Amino acid sequence: MTTKVKAVVLKTADYKEKDKLITLFTLEQGKIFCSMRGVKSPTAKLKFAKEPFCFGEFILENTKGNNIVTQVQIIENFFEITKDIDKFYEGCAILDVVNKLSSETPDPQLFIELIKALKCLSFENPRKYYVFDKFMLNIFKNSGYYFLSQKCPVCSYPLDDNRYFNLEVGEFVCTNCKTNLCIKVSNAGYSGLKFLDRTDYSNLKNLKLGGEAEVEIYNLLDKNFEWRFNKRFVQII
Ligand SMILES: [Zn+2]
Repeated sequence: MTTKVKAVVLKTADYKEKDKLITLFTLEQGKIFCSMRGVKSPTAKLKFAKEPFCFGEFILENTKGNNIVTQVQIIENFFEITKDIDKFYEGCAILDVVNKLSSETPDPQLFIELIKALKCLSFENPRKYYVFDKFMLNIFKNSGYYFLSQKCPVCSYPLDDNRYFNLEVGEFVCTNCKTNLCIKVSNAGYSGLKFLDRTDYSNLKNLKLGGEAEVEIYNLLDKNFEWRFNKRFVQII
């Protein structure tokens, strides 16, 4: 059986002497594991497609339950990401989040989010971690975990400058409603999150937050991911 899918290579591993096992995140079928034969040889026709970040149209041949990649047509080249060490780590963290959240069920929304993030990381130059932060905020939003509302979700009072992020519920609460599972978030950190949330990928390059807020935001997204999905992504700070 032959299948045609649009996919991004999330992970690769060596297999036998010249083969690769690759994890694809496809638009049509979610995550698919497949093998690429002979691609480690320097003259292999498909060697360009065996690396993470490759975005293309893959033709898969399914024999005896194994998917073998027989053809690849590049849709967009994101290999710029691999030429800059910071972009590379940031991109790897994005692929890691997709790998951890995806299954063999299609998730077009996650697929589109991934492409938007990789495009921005590859072709624009926002400050370090902003693409990852933006991507994570959209992941939470798309999964029903939006947390930047104006009111305390417990008592419904408008939030003032003393904001605590409640890890148990994944939302900001006020001073009166804080518990011992809350972390205090500075004003710079909170407004940084708001800016990131309101700025499209295309305008991220014009955004500049303070250094301390950047670290605070990253740590908050990291903890929230752990609490919401019970997993941790590969660390980049
Ligand atoms: Zn409250």
